[in-house]
Amino acid sequence: MNMDEYRGVWVFIEQRDGDLVDVGLELLGAGRDLADKLEVDLCGILLGHNVKGLSKGIFEYGADKVYVIDDPILEKYRSETYMIAVGDLVRKYKPEIFLYGATSNGKDLASAVATEVMTGLTADTTMLDVDLEKRLLEASRPAFGGNIMATILCKKHRPQMATVRPKVMKKLEPEVGRTGQIIEETISLKEEDLRTKVLEIVRDTKKAVNLEDADIIVAGGKGIKDEKGLKMIEELADVLNATVGASRDIVEAGLISHAHQVGQTGLTVTPKVYFAIGISGAIQHKVGMENSETIIAINTDPAAPIFDVAHYGIVADAFEIVPILTEEFKKALQ
Ligand code: FAD
Repeated sequence: MNMDEYRGVWVFIEQRDGDLVDVGLELLGAGRDLADKLEVDLCGILLGHNVKGLSKGIFEYGADKVYVIDDPILEKYRSETYMIAVGDLVRKYKPEIFLYGATSNGKDLASAVATEVMTGLTADTTMLDVDLEKRLLEASRPAFGGNIMATILCKKHRPQMATVRPKVMKKLEPEVGRTGQIIEETISLKEEDLRTKVLEIVRDTKKAVNLEDADIIVAGGKGIKDEKGLKMIEELADVLNATVGASRDIVEAGLISHAHQVGQTGLTVTPKVYFAIGISGAIQHKVGMENSETIIAINTDPAAPIFDVAHYGIVADAFEIVPILTEEFKKALQ
């Protein structure tokens, strides 16, 4: 492989039902920085049907070029069609770096493309940088149960690929009216060549929890102990119009569903206010919430590691302090 043929930073731009998914725009922010350092173009990869109009937003969030494949066969995400389409683009245009959102589809696609074009992939990256001299992507992520950060390099293959979870990178301020070059490509697949068909998409209507977009999260850990403790934090969340979050321990104890879990194997969140109640602050929990704007921790143990990331710490029994807070907020917000 002649690695010098590979140039440019690509971001897979996920769209759902014709709307851009935020993580793609966040990655354009991270990708812009890498592309500027490497002095190359930042390109968005957009697949779907009737999606060309979305290019405008992609340019405004930092891309110089958008590669579009607009075809009815790409209307709904399928590993097979998307892998073939993206694999063809990679072989033809040879990017050196390719980033994907770590959504269900993004993770599925990135791993399929890595196999298709025989390159490496770092999953769930939390930091991206580049070694300019060697043009190597430095993709860092928690490893060994979150106890260390590992920086992973892909030295012998191209493109260097990584997935990044939603909310880890920051979107740039959109530059209204910014434009760039649209490169339209086609796909030669026919429906009858494919092994999979999308018959129906069934939406999970139970999933009313939307932690990632919540402004305020009231999260509970093992210190809230039981149903009574959960009810107590739900009442505080209610008064604050907040969403309930959880540590893995109370999810595993069956107190609350996994959709509420924050952390390495749950969601990454960045609300304006994060209450950590009866949560010790294990590294696997902290990686999912430490970028919250304001963290308020309540814990009986003054040495709990959660206080290392908290902006306000209350050393107290949650069962005493939380009902008082709920009452006071209720009065103040009436
Ligand atoms: P504990 O660590 O037991 O802490 C309970 C805290 O409550 C203590 O600090 C205690 O002082 C305090 N407390 C007790 N009583 C009270 C009271 N009355 N009032 C106030 N405070 C009180 N964890 C996650 O959260 N999210 C993840 O995504 C996640 N992924 C993981 C992935 C891997 C590979 C591994 C190995 C672990 C993962 N974990 C995750 C688990 C993590 O290591 C911790 O075990 C977990 O976060 C601890 O949960 P906790 O803080 O609720 O419980």
